[in-house]
Amino acid sequence: MIVKEYSKMSKEELAEVIAGLKKQYDDIKNKGINLDMSRGKPSKKQLDLSMPVLDVLNSNESLNASDGTDVRNYGMLDGILEAKSLLADMVGVNKENVIVFGNASLSIMFDTVSRAYTHGILGNIPWSRFDKIKFLCPAPGYDRHFKISEHFGMELIYVPMTKNGPDMDMVEELVRDDDSIKGIWCVPKYSNPQGYSYSDETVRRFAALKPKAKDFRIFWDDAYCVHHIKFDKKDEILNILDECERAGNFNLAYVFFSTSKISFAGSGISGIASSKENLAEIKKHMSMQCISHDKINQLRHVRFFKNINGITEHMKKHAEIMRPKFELITNSFERELKPLGIAEWTDPNGGYFISFESLKGCAKKIVSKAKEAGLVLTDAGATFPYGIDPNDSNIRIAPSFPEIKELKEAVELFILCVKLVSAQIIYEEG
Ligand code: PLP
Repeated sequence: MIVKEYSKMSKEELAEVIAGLKKQYDDIKNKGINLDMSRGKPSKKQLDLSMPVLDVLNSNESLNASDGTDVRNYGMLDGILEAKSLLADMVGVNKENVIVFGNASLSIMFDTVSRAYTHGILGNIPWSRFDKIKFLCPAPGYDRHFKISEHFGMELIYVPMTKNGPDMDMVEELVRDDDSIKGIWCVPKYSNPQGYSYSDETVRRFAALKPKAKDFRIFWDDAYCVHHIKFDKKDEILNILDECERAGNFNLAYVFFSTSKISFAGSGISGIASSKENLAEIKKHMSMQCISHDKINQLRHVRFFKNINGITEHMKKHAEIMRPKFELITNSFERELKPLGIAEWTDPNGGYFISFESLKGCAKKIVSKAKEAGLVLTDAGATFPYGIDPNDSNIRIAPSFPEIKELKEAVELFILCVKLVSAQIIYEEG
């Protein structure tokens, strides 16, 4: 059967399509389903992969780190050496440039912003003393980054994302002229939600930025550094700290990471990597805040993964679980939506999300139609600063959590909502 694009249909043809879709939608709605594709959480199967993390330590075992530190006690505020090495290798930085923190990287990001507000960065004026602080927000992006900025009362500046990373012409121009712009949020590898990875040119341009604000910092959230889905098509990015050093911009970037989507979400280990000077400042503050992070968890992670090869092998198992889910979605879109010319989507090599672009002005309606029928999606607009998508077209799809059977139902319902809303819009505007 030849399928016609909606925009090429006559009003009569469209009216017929809409009537058919409405009937299908009502039938599904009456089933009372309850599905969730809203947040990028690992599935139970993925979490099960890490259960041996809980078995590698027991009460008969030595709980000494390699240098003899008893991990049950206070001390080693910046992390045990072997945890530093493991995380450093994971992110591709030197272990001397790493501090290991607690259970989550988002709280390190929050604290980093908070410190800049209360105490300033490396002797600069604390951000709280300025009338206005601005932050660059490449979008679509990670909603929780934008929320941190909003929480502190910053002005959020939208920078469009491209396949190679944020629009660097815009970034360079903005930071060069405005010293109230103090930072930028970046997810450089398998970005949330598009799954794009920054090109070498983008990373080099970041490292070579000449911000007017001396305390401008790149918040480089490497949340998906080893999260390949297609191991035969891995994305790799340049090391931002090396590039900053090369460009003489030693203190420009903070790199954040965690094992939240490697071991246990919210119960892994996390860290920051940066220049010696930045780290020294962070450690000074940390010593007021905390006597020691959870070194037992650090040791458990090291004993379980052993080294970077252990992480890689583990991530291959994650990929085996994730890949069929991503394929289910992209194949369904390809089959059902492509011929209708009503949407575009990304097909990333890694990360946790697929970014979906509906026709302009349809995203909110699609999300609400899906919700009405029992499918929860990330709020439309959430991927943009202030939750406002200028085109009302982006929807973040999070395939990881549901099992395949539920995901299949969820995708069918989602596709139905996309078709119905798109057909209605074309009908109304045509
Ligand atoms: N950064 C990004 C880009 C994320 O997508 C997420 C979770 O979805 C996080 C950070 C959260 O990481 P953590 O659990 O280490 O706070």
